[in-house]
Amino acid sequence: MLALARGIYNERAFDRMPILADTLQDAGGINEDVLSHCRDTSLAHVHGCWVVDLLLGKG
Ligand SMILES: [Zn+2]
Repeated sequence: MLALARGIYNERAFDRMPILADTLQDAGGINEDVLSHCRDTSLAHVHGCWVVDLLLGKG
């Protein structure tokens, strides 16, 4: 899951955000806000997306 987040960050592969959401949901204990943010395709996930930052401990 961290590797996935890191890959998204490093490769700016923000089209993988919904996949990350699924992975996070499977892991459990994840805030609904995080999941809905990842799955919101109307959002442009920029470099520095707070969800990715949160996962990578950059926030
Ligand atoms: Zn985002």
